[in-house]
Order: sequence, then C-alpha cells, then structure tokens
Amino acid sequence: MPYIIIDEMRCKGCGLCTIACPQKLVSMSDTPNSMGYTMATFSGPEKCTGCSLCAEMCPDVAISVFKE
Ligand code: SF4
Ligand code: SF4
Repeated sequence: MPYIIIDEMRCKGCGLCTIACPQKLVSMSDTPNSMGYTMATFSGPEKCTGCSLCAEMCPDVAISVFKE
C-alpha cells in the first residue's frame, strides 16, 4: 500500500501539498514544528495511490513517497 512521509524539518507550512493531493489525504496540522511552521500531515494510507503529486508540488522536497 503506497504511503508518504513528510519531513518535519523541511516543511515550511506553505500548504501546496494539501491542494495537490487528489485524494485529500494531506492537511495542515494545528501543531507547529520545531521551527514554528505549521506542518503538513498525512491522514493515512488507505486511499493513497502513490501518484507523487504531493511530493512534486512541494518546493522544499519535504515529502517522500513509498510505493510498497
Ligand atoms: S502520493 Fe498522491 S494520493 Fe498519496 S498523498 Fe501524495 S498526492 Fe495524495
Ligand atoms: S508543500 Fe512541502 S513545505 Fe509546503 S506544506 Fe506541504 S510538505 Fe510542507
């Protein structure tokens, strides 16, 4: 089942990945990361297709896609 991992240290909270995901699996957390940015979070792999659109959209290369 495909899934993504969002690197907390790279995410700057721009929110572009939330727009990119056709399955609406990425949203913004209420909890800031260690740099004070509101982080993107992955809501779960059940509907993830591994399309990589979220990762391609991220300007900070914070998202890794795994297609296992
Ligand atoms: S890989 Fe595709 S389906 Fe999975 S979270 Fe990213 S944009 Fe959404
Ligand atoms: S596109 Fe990248 S930097 Fe922007 S919120 Fe998503 S993971 Fe964070």
